[in-house]
Formats: sequence, structure tokens, C-alpha cells
Amino acid sequence: MAIASINPTTGETLTTFVELSAPELERAIALAASAFRQYGEVSMAERSRRMIRAAEILEEERSDFGRIMALEMGKPIGAARDEAIKCARACRYYAENAERMLAPEEVATDAKRSYVVYQPLGVVLAVMPWNFPFWQVFRFAVPALMAGNVALLKHASNVPQCALSIEEIFRRAGFEDGIFTSLLVGSEVVGRLLEDPRVAAATLTGSEDAGRSVASIAGKNLKKTVLELGGSDPFIVMPTANLETAIHTAVKARTINSGQSCIAAKRFIVHRDIADEFERGFVAGMAELLVGDPLDESTAVGPLATPGILADLEDQVRRSVEAGARVLVGGARLERAGNFYRPTVLTDIPRNSPAYSEELFGPVASLFRVWNADEAIALANDTGFGLAASAWTNDAEERERFINGIEAGQVFINAMVASDPRLPFGGVKRSGYGRELAAFGLREFVNVKTVWIGV
Ligand code: NAP
Repeated sequence: MAIASINPTTGETLTTFVELSAPELERAIALAASAFRQYGEVSMAERSRRMIRAAEILEEERSDFGRIMALEMGKPIGAARDEAIKCARACRYYAENAERMLAPEEVATDAKRSYVVYQPLGVVLAVMPWNFPFWQVFRFAVPALMAGNVALLKHASNVPQCALSIEEIFRRAGFEDGIFTSLLVGSEVVGRLLEDPRVAAATLTGSEDAGRSVASIAGKNLKKTVLELGGSDPFIVMPTANLETAIHTAVKARTINSGQSCIAAKRFIVHRDIADEFERGFVAGMAELLVGDPLDESTAVGPLATPGILADLEDQVRRSVEAGARVLVGGARLERAGNFYRPTVLTDIPRNSPAYSEELFGPVASLFRVWNADEAIALANDTGFGLAASAWTNDAEERERFINGIEAGQVFINAMVASDPRLPFGGVKRSGYGRELAAFGLREFVNVKTVWIGV
């Protein structure tokens, strides 16, 4: 794929980039490897100071960064500014907490003294997607750098300006050249990077196919990986829920980032007693959303990031309808320039259709009706994915059943799923493995070293 910024609102090519040549790539890896050796001398206090500076840059220049995101991948401008602020929050969180989380831990044994220390692994390769083009990178890079690693970023080919801006933020915050490097390369280079002995580990956020490829090459080379892959999160609504809040949140949870979020609610599983009322409110809410130019402050849903994503979504809806699904609202692209798709609700969805079993990466909701909590849990789990889930109920016993019974990396009760630097984030099943954020994320790319002192 060519490395280019193409405005998804207009189709206009904003700028293109030449991929790194083999010698340039070699220089970047060598620089990262030598930067790692020197970075070990930088104290935790100094790393924290730099992260605070990165946070200040993100906060002060959030409008500029927001505009780059909106122009490159179509995110509504308000959400894009918020994304820059969220990255700043992660910088501040780890600046304040990383030293404590990485402190040696004493363990009482038969030894005179025994303890555990956390040491960095080295150069970590990050393969990242375009959908949260700043946040996905920061949520990996901030803990990784605080732990003493250095990062090579292979960002998605459609967000090169975001990639270069992030490199620049870390450099301006005081991190020396080579500690965080954006590599403008295509995905075919990833295998070579994984095989390079100077690259110690890798993290990938993206599709299942990309995850399988990275995991298998890393596996052959015995390198640690963290994978954050797709999701088809359930959003369960039971009769005791506050229906008005649940409906309002359902619309937001499906259409966040114009529907292109791994943790967007995708399958709405509603108890039959309240299903008609939920359906009316949900369909009305989806129909009211303002679809348009992401630079317009009033836009709720922007274009999809690329023509390919739009074509895939159209195809999934078409095949679902052919299999018997019914369109309650939307169901088509907008007849205008740009990659716009109408907010859509599907119902009567057969098990053999894409809307049942695949991830729909756009503003298309699948609505299901169930008789009870057991049926809701069975339907929620009838998927290869296991990223997150949201369940709405005010019944304490039901709440426990959802928390224990849903196969997912996170369950939110009476709230929409969101990531938070203070809590671990990640999936089970085909949604990946490993965790980001909190202390768990900080310790993914460290050598957990045991020390035993005999006498
Ligand atoms: P994608 O095609 O897998 O791309 C993600 C990254 O992987 C890009 O940098 C891409 O590079 C690279 N890539 C693609 N194929 C590769 C391969 N065979 N080997 C190595 N690298 C490869 O993903 P996407 O479709 O852009 O992103 C959407 C997917 O990401 C959805 O499934 C979504 O749910 C998932 N996602 C998951 C999370 C999470 O935290 N679990 C968060 C956000 C998104 P190029 O751009 O150069 O192709």
C-alpha cells in the first residue's frame, strides 16, 4: 500500500511519502539499538519529566494534532482533540506511577534475600492501526519508554503525518534520537523487522490477519508479542435497566469514531420485554445523527477512513440482507464524495450472515432479541471475538452472571466500554492476548528477573 495521506472526506491526496530504503531502514534500527544502550542511563525521574513535557505539548497543540487526524482519517474534530488529551493523560499517569510499578519487589524465601526486578527488553516494534492514530501509539509507547525500552513504530500506511507528528512530540519532549522512531514502511517489511536480532519484541493492534502474521513470524523467532485485535462487542439491555440512558449510550457506543472502534458496541442484545421500546429509541437516535465533514464541529459521524473500508462494510450489509436480515434504518452509503455510510440498524439477523459473526467496522448495529440472561450470555459468547462487553441491568444477581459468564477481556455494567490508563485493556479468544495500560501493560515488555542472594 502506498504511504499517503488521502482525505476521506473528499478523496483528495494531501501528500505522499517515499518508503524508507533498505539502507535508511538499517540506519534506523542501528540507531534504535544504540539509543537503547544509552537510554538505560536516564533516570526514572528524568523519563517522567520528559513524559510530562510530552503531555504539555499534546495539550497545548491539541487543535493542530486534531486537525491532522481529521484530515488523514476522518475523525470528527472534537473527538480528535479529545484523543490528543487522552494521550496526555496516559503520559501523566505513567510519569506519576511507573517508578512505583517497576520498583523491585522483595519476596520472603529461604534465601538471605530474594527479590524481583523489572528490566527493559530493548527495541520493541509497534505495528499500529489508523483508527485511533494517536491513542493506539501512546498507550503502547508511554509505558514501554517509561520501562526503559525504545520503540520502532510501523504505523498504518494511511496516517503517515500522524506517525511523524508523534515522533516529533517525543523528540521535542527530550527523548534522544532513536528512542522513538516512526518508520515509513509498508507491512511487507514487518517480517524482516521481526527477524532482525536487534528487535526484541513486538506489539500489534489491528486485524486478525495481521495479528496471525506477526505472531507466527515472532513465534518462529521466539519473540514476545502483544496482540490487540478485532472485536464484536455485545451491548446487553435487560428490563431493570434505565432504558433512556441505555438507548442514548447505545447510539454513542456504536458510532464512536464513526463506528471504527475495536471496542464499539456492535451487537445489541435486548430482552424481549423492552425490545420494542429500545428499538424505537435506538433507530430514532441513529437516524438523527449528523453525518458529514469531520472538520465541522457539529458532525457526529464522519467518513470511513478509506474507500476499501466503505466497500467492505457495504458488502457485509448486502450479504447480511441477502441472508435474511432486515434494515431498520440506513443500509446504504451517502450519495456524495467521500467514504460516507449512513448509520444503520439491522435486525432479524441469521446466524450465517456477516452481521452475526463478523466484525462490522463502521456505523452498523446488529439488533437481537432474547428471553432471558442465559440466552443473552449464550448469544454474547457465540462469536470468535472476546474483547469487551457492556451490560445494562439493575438486578444484582444478573449483574454477577454477566460479569462471570461473558467471555471478554472487560465487562462494563451500566456504562459504555472505554479504555482508561488506570485499568488493563485487552482481549481473549480471537481478540488477541496480552494487556495494555495500568501496571499490566507496563510489565508486558520487561524481563521479570529473579534475584537470589544465598548468604
Ligand atoms: P490492519 O489492516 O491489520 O492494519 C493494522 C496495522 O497492521 C497497519 O499498520 C498495517 O499496515 C499492518 N499490517 C497489515 N497487514 C499486515 C501483515 N500481514 N503483517 C504485518 N503488518 C500488517 O487493521 P485495520 O483494518 O487497519 O484496523 C482495524 C482492525 O484493528 C479492526 O479489526 C479493529 O477491531 C482492530 N483494532 C483493535 C484494537 C484493540 O485494541 N483490540 C484497537 C483498534 C483497532 P498497512 O497500513 O501498511 O497495511
